[in-house]
Parts: sequence; structure tokens; C-alpha cells
Amino acid sequence: MKEKEKKKEKKKKKEMNQDTPKTEKELEKITMNQNTIGIPRKERNEIFAQKCKEGVKVIIDLGFEDLMRDIDITSMIRQVTTCYSMNRKSNSPLNLIFYDIGEKVNNQLIKTTYDKWLGITTYKHDGLDFHNMVKDNYPEFSENKQNIIYLTADSDNEITEIKQDELYIIGGIVDRNKYKGLTLNKAKELGINHARLPIGEYLHLKTSKVLATNHVFAILAYYINVKQDWKEAFLSIIPKRKIEEEDEEYDKDKEDI
Ligand code: SAH
Repeated sequence: MKEKEKKKEKKKKKEMNQDTPKTEKELEKITMNQNTIGIPRKERNEIFAQKCKEGVKVIIDLGFEDLMRDIDITSMIRQVTTCYSMNRKSNSPLNLIFYDIGEKVNNQLIKTTYDKWLGITTYKHDGLDFHNMVKDNYPEFSENKQNIIYLTADSDNEITEIKQDELYIIGGIVDRNKYKGLTLNKAKELGINHARLPIGEYLHLKTSKVLATNHVFAILAYYINVKQDWKEAFLSIIPKRKIEEEDEEYDKDKEDI
């Protein structure tokens, strides 16, 4: 191959390998599989609320606003709004709590009229403390703290599957890798369990395995709604720029979602 052609080929490869994180709309569509055509809105909402009650339990912990700049809070609000939209469109929505909403987060979140969001429970910063909040919503976990799992990339434990009888927590923080161990330490302080996603079992990442809140949420939603297949979930959600090319081959052969 001539030098010029080689360069062209390299450029094309580079372009294909650009960071292509899914847009919010694309993320929302992933779990969209509701067959509710013809059902009146009120009934449809009731069905959705019931499904949420029965869903896998996930808490998004928003109690980190003092560690974020305003710009990061705005990014976090966008991420949790995407989580909500994705859940709202899911066939098997998660049972979702937004916990520890401080003043700054509330002031931005209120613009999205989140107080009217369906199938979601919210707690302000001055509301119940963590253990009482769990007791109020999920009394079965109060005695069984081993089944409350803070998802954190810094844990030495790894989850192997998502279980109905476990309660998962995702940290709602954009910190650009500034606060390593933040949620791991929080889990230890709270006396609850912690675990990372099994990314290393399936993929080689070029960068750190710390993912954004909405991507972790989307991975759980994918696993529950689309297919119980970690590799497929990771390849569908994790931005391409993070994934080694050899692993990406799998992605190319896979059907579009
Ligand atoms: N330094 C922060 C990182 C925030 S990333 C921390 O200490 O958590 C946003 C959240 O996504 C994390 O709090 C965690 O709940 C979740 N998360 C990100 N990558 C993860 C991974 N590889 N495994 C499990 N959870 C992860």
C-alpha cells in the first residue's frame, strides 16, 4: 500500500473510532419496548407505576453537590433526567429513588418539573437519613444490609448478576476522577456492601473503568430490559473511545439496537 493510502486508511480508522457516546435520545430508545397503544393514559400510568413498584431497586445518591462545580451539577442534572426518561420508556422500569437532593441540585432539577415525575420517589437533603429512608421504602433490607450494594469502580468485589433481592446505589456525581474512593468510603461508612461492574471480565478499556452515572444506569436498564448479557450491555453503552479496538470487533457484527 502506498504511503498516502496508508495515511488515508489510518485517518478513516481513527474517524470510525471516535468517541460516539449515545445521545440522550438514543439512550432513551434502548429500553423502549412498551406496547401500550390504545390504552388510556390514566390506565397506562397506573400500569407503569405498578411496574416500577415491582422493578429492581436503584437509588441515585445525589448528596455530593458540595463537591461539584455548577457546571458539573448541570451535567449531573442532565444525566439524571436521561435516567428518568429512559426508565419512563422502559418495559421493565427500575424502582427508582433520587436521594439526598440538596438546594443547588433542587434549584436546577425543579426546572424539569421533577416533582411530577412518575414512578419515582425523591428525598431532599433535609429529609430522612439513609438508613431510615431504606427502612421506610424497603423494610426487608433494613435487617439485611449485605444486600444493599453501592456500585463503585473502586471496589474489589464484582457483581456477577443483577438480582431482584438486592438494592443498588449509584453515585450521582460528576468529578472527572478527582475523588477516587469517594463512594467506596461512603459505602463503608454506611456499613453496606459495595461492588464494581464486571467490565474487566469482558472488555479491555483504554482508560479508567469509572463510568458516568447515566451510563451505569443505562447498563443496568439494558441488562434488565434487553438482554442479560454484560458484554453486550457494555458495548452498547460505554463510549467507543474507551474500548480497545480488538473488543470493538464484536460490536461491529452485532445487530443495531
Ligand atoms: N469518584 C466517584 C466517581 C463517580 S462516577 C466515586 O467515588 O464513585 C459516578 C457513579 O457511577 C459512581 O459513584 C458509581 O456509583 C458508578 N460507577 C461508575 N463506574 C462504575 C463501575 N465501573 N462499577 C460500578 N459502579 C460504577
